[in-house]
Amino acid sequence: MDHKKIKSDVLVIGGSEAGLTAALESNKLGADTVIVSKGKLGKSGNALISGCGHNAPFGHENDKDSPRIFFEDTLQSGKFLNNRDLVDILTQEACARVRELDDLGVGFEKKNGKFIQYSTPGHSYPRSCYTEKRKGLEITSLLADLVKSTEIKTLDNIMVFSVFQEKGSIEGAMGMNKNTGELYVFSTKAIVLATGGAGKIYKTNNNVVGTTGDGYSMALEAGAELIDMEFFQFYPHRVISPVNMNVSPMLFKMGAKLLNKEGERFMKKYDPTQMEESTRDVKSRAIFTEVLNGDGVKGGVYLDLSKIKEKELKRLNYKFYNALEGKGVDYRKDDLIISPIAHFYMGGIKVDRECETRISNFFACGEVAGGIHGANRLANNALTSALVFGSRAGRYAAKSCKDMNIPKIDEFKIKKSKNRIYKKRNESYTKIDLAQIKKELQEMMWGNAGIVKSGESLNKTLKCLNKLEKESLKFKSENIRNITHSLELENMITVSRVLVLSSLARAESRGSHYRSDYPNTNDEEFLGNIIVKKRNSEIITEKYPI
Ligand SMILES: Cc1cc2nc3c(=O)[nH]c(=O)nc-3n(C[C@H](O)[C@H](O)[C@H](O)COP(=O)(O)OP(=O)(O)OC[C@H]3O[C@@H](n4cnc5c(N)ncnc54)[C@H](O)[C@@H]3O)c2cc1C
Repeated sequence: MDHKKIKSDVLVIGGSEAGLTAALESNKLGADTVIVSKGKLGKSGNALISGCGHNAPFGHENDKDSPRIFFEDTLQSGKFLNNRDLVDILTQEACARVRELDDLGVGFEKKNGKFIQYSTPGHSYPRSCYTEKRKGLEITSLLADLVKSTEIKTLDNIMVFSVFQEKGSIEGAMGMNKNTGELYVFSTKAIVLATGGAGKIYKTNNNVVGTTGDGYSMALEAGAELIDMEFFQFYPHRVISPVNMNVSPMLFKMGAKLLNKEGERFMKKYDPTQMEESTRDVKSRAIFTEVLNGDGVKGGVYLDLSKIKEKELKRLNYKFYNALEGKGVDYRKDDLIISPIAHFYMGGIKVDRECETRISNFFACGEVAGGIHGANRLANNALTSALVFGSRAGRYAAKSCKDMNIPKIDEFKIKKSKNRIYKKRNESYTKIDLAQIKKELQEMMWGNAGIVKSGESLNKTLKCLNKLEKESLKFKSENIRNITHSLELENMITVSRVLVLSSLARAESRGSHYRSDYPNTNDEEFLGNIIVKKRNSEIITEKYPI
């Protein structure tokens, strides 16, 4: 198999908010920049389906707000596991970056020249900014158009599957075109990894196709460390029947109720004070437990909106209201089923203030980077991080490659990487049902390594992962799409294994990580981070104090 050769100063992997921001910044500093994306640039990744909320402590709604209070709120939500340096940067730089994005033409909502800032859970003051349509696609499309208007080289539909380093310094990467199977070898002075999260490891998730944790898996394989991988956020406000849509948490402030199959307001067992206004993790756990105990309905619980005025529902959840109306559903009388859903990975690649991993000239930003959010992410801090750290990663990547030559990648490494594809394509055909393996993985992770975990359920999952890994490695096909899916599945299995091992290492409950066998928080032993690395091809975890 031949391959195409691409050379650059900076290679950005990932074509969404974090990657596009990094590419623009790197280009601005004069670096010869290439951006490559598994999906279409600006039209792939979770940012495009996001509600486009960004936080910035402008204090336009309440002048008591400040970066310091934003810092404290972020730590509070992260249960004090966050990397203080990264949170400091996030909260200090958010205003400047949001303003720049607005100046580029995003058009955040404003009144009399000031940003309209909304209250969102966990924030002491209103500081979330949105565009009127609340569509992330508006932002990613604009950034993609800007990138295309520069000399940055763009490549769509290429799945990167290997990152090369030599003696702790980056050399390049290898990717495959998802449609043609054409292979690409990228020789580059620096890499910015911005490949997003891994929501697809769970059966019930709201992530876009392709969110398969490729970045975590590649980075680990290349020798980088991962941090906080036991913390996955579940969003408790997804209606799964008769439509499939998120509902606003504000509805619970206005009288929406959660009922089990007996019609009981079960939240009184889990949080008798706050009831349905409890935090995301407690509510997710409560619904999950009701379903597990056989008190759920069709995999969820009832959402009772009978007390919500039509005017309010329309105002808060226009799309949801319309979808129900379109199906002839009366939200006051007909059954609505709600379930928690896998949403966001707090864990990620361990980076320093400059977004650099422990491999020199290897940077990470956006959801694939870890350490910022600790044990639980504050609402709208994901896109703010993608923006702030995307910009920093691009800047430091461009700076890092000044006065350097483009590294030459050892032919042996290229051959070894190609062999991974070659084996899948050219050896005799083996009938393996990839979709079935993926389904088994997602169900196992959802039931045993998600909202509620225990030593027993995690060990059971590990055994299952070993079996699925063996099966998945036997996969062979001439179909290029299936080869991409098989690479993605391998990544999903690796990320699942990392999540399970990290969860076993944290024998306590904290934030989004709940162990039914260790239901309490144990600061004495666990006020610190679990770091994951590869040693002699084995994945190991180590505990570090904060
Ligand atoms: C329904 C929903 C609503 C949300 N709303 C909000 C919100 O309002 N506010 C907020 O702060 N957060 C929100 N989030 C979270 C937020 O959208 C994500 O954390 C954010 O999109 C991460 O940005 P990113 O650029 O790091 O990754 P993504 O936006 O996920 O993009 C990843 C990019 O990497 C590419 N890629 C992946 N693997 C490879 C590979 N192997 N090779 C090459 N390219 C690859 C993809 O094609 C894509 O271009 C929401 C998430 C969801 C699912």
